[in-house]
Amino acid sequence: QKYVYTWGAAKADGDGSMKNLLGGKGANLAEMTRIGLPVPPGFTITTEVCTYYYANKRTYPPSLQAQLEAGVKNMEKIMGYKFGDASNFPLLVAVRSGARDSMPGMMDTILNLGLNDQTVLALVKATKNERFAWDCYRRFIQMYGDVVLGVQKKEGEDHEPFETVIEKFKHDTYHKDIVDSDLTAADQQELVKRFKALVKERTGKVFPNDPWDQLRGAAGAVFGSWMNDRAIVYRRKYNIPSEWGTAVNVQAMVYGNTGDTSGSGVAFTRNPANGVNEFYGEFLINAQGEDVVAGVRTPEPVLKLKDVMPKSYAELLKVRATLEKHFKDVQDIEFTIQEGKLFMLQTRNGKRTAAAGLKFAADMVREKLITWETAVLRNPADQLEQLLAPIFDLSEVKKAKVIATGLPAGPGAATGKIYFNADRSVIAAEKGEKVLLVRVETSPEDLRGMIAAEGILTARGGVSSHAALVARQMGKVCVCGAAGVQIDYDAKTATIDGQVFKEGDFLSIDGTSGTVYAGQIKTAPSEIISGLISDDKEAQKTEKFKNYVQLMKWCSQATKLSVRTNADTPEQARQAIAFGAVGIGLVRTEHMFFEGDRIDAMREMILADNLADRETALAKLLPYQRDDFFGIFKALKGFPATVRFLDPPLHEFLPHAKEQQMDLARKLNIPVEKIMHRVHELHEFNPMLGFRGCRLGIKYPEITRMQARAVLEAAADATKAGFKAKPEIMIPLVGFKKELDLQVAIVHEVAAQVQKEKKVKIAYSVGTMIEIPRGALTADEIAQTAEFFSFGTNDLTQTCLGMSRDDSGSFLGAYTENEIVKKNPFASIDQTGVGQLVKIACEKGNQTRPGIKLGICGEHGGDPDSVKFCHKVGLTYVSCSPYRVPVARLAAAQAAI
Ligand code: ADP
Ligand code: MG
Ligand code: MG
Repeated sequence: QKYVYTWGAAKADGDGSMKNLLGGKGANLAEMTRIGLPVPPGFTITTEVCTYYYANKRTYPPSLQAQLEAGVKNMEKIMGYKFGDASNFPLLVAVRSGARDSMPGMMDTILNLGLNDQTVLALVKATKNERFAWDCYRRFIQMYGDVVLGVQKKEGEDHEPFETVIEKFKHDTYHKDIVDSDLTAADQQELVKRFKALVKERTGKVFPNDPWDQLRGAAGAVFGSWMNDRAIVYRRKYNIPSEWGTAVNVQAMVYGNTGDTSGSGVAFTRNPANGVNEFYGEFLINAQGEDVVAGVRTPEPVLKLKDVMPKSYAELLKVRATLEKHFKDVQDIEFTIQEGKLFMLQTRNGKRTAAAGLKFAADMVREKLITWETAVLRNPADQLEQLLAPIFDLSEVKKAKVIATGLPAGPGAATGKIYFNADRSVIAAEKGEKVLLVRVETSPEDLRGMIAAEGILTARGGVSSHAALVARQMGKVCVCGAAGVQIDYDAKTATIDGQVFKEGDFLSIDGTSGTVYAGQIKTAPSEIISGLISDDKEAQKTEKFKNYVQLMKWCSQATKLSVRTNADTPEQARQAIAFGAVGIGLVRTEHMFFEGDRIDAMREMILADNLADRETALAKLLPYQRDDFFGIFKALKGFPATVRFLDPPLHEFLPHAKEQQMDLARKLNIPVEKIMHRVHELHEFNPMLGFRGCRLGIKYPEITRMQARAVLEAAADATKAGFKAKPEIMIPLVGFKKELDLQVAIVHEVAAQVQKEKKVKIAYSVGTMIEIPRGALTADEIAQTAEFFSFGTNDLTQTCLGMSRDDSGSFLGAYTENEIVKKNPFASIDQTGVGQLVKIACEKGNQTRPGIKLGICGEHGGDPDSVKFCHKVGLTYVSCSPYRVPVARLAAAQAAI
């Protein structure tokens, strides 16, 4: 079996399509080689080896060694150097991890591998550049010691042990802070000695001298890091299965640290924060790549390269154009210039903010680089919400005090209490505080804190720093490299513009402009929301708004599945329609019972012990309900509304605290004992499976009668007033056809009465929710009566899985950790299990009633993956909360393309 894929000299075994096998980095290195870009040769050890490694007690396939040797030979041939050569220029390699999707900062790269006490001398001899050779060796021991041998910060240590050695050396020798590039060859040589001593002291082992031992060790460390804590946390957040594994890339080194005609950089072919079509990135002269992102020295903007290395810059611009044309997307590239010659070390589709993604897509369609269908697919549905996130209120911003500025790394507005470390941020966020994580710079250890925070502020680091990278990907508000922020971790303070802020004080950051403000600032809705919902003309003129509208137009062009909303008020309905919803998929009538003093009439009804009293109480509720429905029909402007009849158990409407029971007794003028008795009587062991849904209407048909009357009278009034009302009455929790028959009979009877009384024909229909397995399994019978189905996937999930949503919190964490479920089944539909029931019900429903209208109204209606599933099984519509409507529309369009 082939475990090693080589590339180099314009030829490659693999190509860009082989990301599963070669990882993202390896596949694209092969692809860049194929299209003739200057890529140093190398080879990829496939992800299958990673899988083998974990399946076989961390060992390798026997045939691997020979393939590795062949891979090294190929590199040696192209480069003209030999691995481990102690007399001529030795071939040195970079060992680089590469999962399918890049996992920023998760796994560290080892550069200059192959150096030892002998080869370093050969390198000195061959280059006549002592400082360079020892700098390489020093870096190698540091990286290898850290990543492979585990010489890392211990509990209670503030700095990396190798950095501590360097600091100490600098102070011993120079008595001041100097930059690494000013260290002499002799200094580097001395550091090598001290580093080796440190390795010995910390690990008890001698640093490996044999290049092949080094190579095997490094590859093992890359595979090993796939299961480290940080990688696991990251995968969990992004739902990346652990069985994908990582690949390892071994590549000939090129050197950015040979002097002032060399350097390393990273760049995006366009601005990934705001989407502007400008070359965007940074570089460092006389440095190896890791320096740029590590924040050791502050890099220069890539545009400055034009002044210092005009020839390489021109070449780089050509590569930029070639890459965009070839990959048809914005690329995130890494490059090194060795003595004026440019080498490409990586390219991948650039991570981007939602705002940038929207602009890229719109611009690239205009540039005819991509089609509108591709543009729709390019905007991840779950990122769309970022565009709808609030911005700072403009009038408030004018009053606020700017205390520092940094780089705008993650757009949006965030206000919160500042915390200086990840753990305390997590704790504060768990308590419900809005948190800003403030750090000198961030590292992968801060990931949990970054997830918990509203926004991230760093004092150091450029646009490709860890903080910026992660923020862009997670859609967090981020300002980085705000040099005016002085942080004292020990005192837990930040001094900014002469003012001291303690942990827990408020700051506000604007990640679109890079501004830091003192105190809290009120936020305002995003331009898209203002433009759509408040019809704000200024907002409608913004590019963001226009691009959004364009995107949604394309979505409508593509989509098969329509999107409705879950709404209980006219206002919600209005908002959802502004977002493009074409009706209501779920009105929860019981929500209406909680407003004002309506609850009293409801309680009176529940407490009544005979039909006459119940009807009296219901008669009080009728006008409220009718008015509510009238408002909703009016707001809907002719779009349909699915109205669900009373669903929750009655005890949810009664007061449980003694005090409130006394109040109610006084109001209704009945003894409190009666209330207590009724509460006791209605108490259930399993309310989720108890006296609820259509079971209420079966036992108390008068409730159904009242609700039917309210809906139908409102529809009649609305129709007369000129708004077409289309009520779709929905009976919940049906498992038996007979249940539905009984309820539907009441609705039809009331409908006949109302139409006669009001002398108007009402366009109504009656259907049911499919939300318990028996309903799904007997859907053919149920469809004889039901004119439509709506899948109540919350309850269907609860009853199919036998898991209560409200009680699953205590164990679901362990289920996702152990990958028993890939995602929380209450957030994203369990396609293999619950999905079966949905499919069965769709098929059976269609057998009885061809073309039956099918919808979904659970929480899942706003989850992109679930929406795609709904498209696949052929539902007519999904329904979700108003602010999820754009997300669902985008997901529905993507499913159809
Ligand atoms: P990451 O996935 O963290 O970006 P990479 O494998 O891309 O890690 O390596 C990080 C940096 O190391 C690169 O940006 C580049 O500057 C440097 N590097 C990687 N491979 C080589 C190489 N063959 N020659 C010189 N520098 C390299
Ligand atoms: Mg990289
Ligand atoms: Mg339900």
